[in-house]
Amino acid sequence: MKIGFIGLGNMGAPMAANLVKAGHEVIGFDMAEVKVDGVTMADTAIKCATDAEVVITMLPNGAILRSVAADIIPAMAKGAALVDCSTVDVDSARAVASDAEAAGLLAVDAPVSGGVGGASAGTLTFMAGGSEAAFAKAAPLFEIMGQKAVHCGEAGAGQAAKICNNMILGVTMIATCEAFALADKLGLDRQKMFDVVSTSSGYSWTMNAYCPAPGVGPQSPADNGYQPGFAADLMLKDLRLSQQAAESADADTPMGQLAQALYAQFVESEDGKGRDFSAMLPRFEKRGRES
Ligand code: NAD
Repeated sequence: MKIGFIGLGNMGAPMAANLVKAGHEVIGFDMAEVKVDGVTMADTAIKCATDAEVVITMLPNGAILRSVAADIIPAMAKGAALVDCSTVDVDSARAVASDAEAAGLLAVDAPVSGGVGGASAGTLTFMAGGSEAAFAKAAPLFEIMGQKAVHCGEAGAGQAAKICNNMILGVTMIATCEAFALADKLGLDRQKMFDVVSTSSGYSWTMNAYCPAPGVGPQSPADNGYQPGFAADLMLKDLRLSQQAAESADADTPMGQLAQALYAQFVESEDGKGRDFSAMLPRFEKRGRES
């Protein structure tokens, strides 16, 4: 298949490389000077998208996605598919899909989970929104770049699934970290705390699979000085998207709102920038009730 790939950053580059390895012809475009083995670089997004059967975008945010989509949609061949794998707001995902469909294209919003490691290993999970036909067109590519793809519903449903999942993730990480900090102050050994909670009703992915306490549970960023992993900045981005969606859908999400405020404080006013999102534990460790 001839594939256009726009946005070859930390995630996009290894995803495009996996498509090349699987035998696809990939034409890339990025604002920055990038080189990916086997990918032929075009000098504009339009040249990258013209003649492609599928164009994949992996961009920083919804505003950039909208502007790239406005350039490439008129250049794409009728029946081709625009597959956006970025994490963006639901409104941008729906607006881009609607413009693409009006131009005779197939459109899928397909954000991913699995991070840079999953992108390199080809083990991402895709959460997709769009028509059956659009999903069917993109599915063989999801199989190469990932291990699982769930068709969640119509346009925007993939982004909705992603931000709901990550809102739970942000909230449970904070709950896990504050519980460890409380356990410390109560004199409870961290390993004992893990042994109990990981097999009791307080268990969660953040406790069992990504434990924020160094030396406890499986290997995680906590064992590597809180190098990301999944950076606190990216968690803040996703929490903001969840609250933007909650605003526009009039949904009451008090825990998501508080998680957003805490990650904003951590990233913007404390030492959270560039650290893994589980570094909330040393943050809580240092604090008392009034601080
Ligand atoms: P990144 O900043 O490394 O890559 C984005 C790329 O887009 C950059 O190379 C940039 O030059 C390029 N770009 C920006 N504007 C452009 C334009 N107008 N035209 C063409 N290229 C342009 O970011 P990333 O970590 O690869 O993340 C990409 C997306 O994936 C984001 O939406 C992010 O939220 C999401 N995501 C990231 C992770 C992760 O762990 N990094 C995990 C899941 C989802």
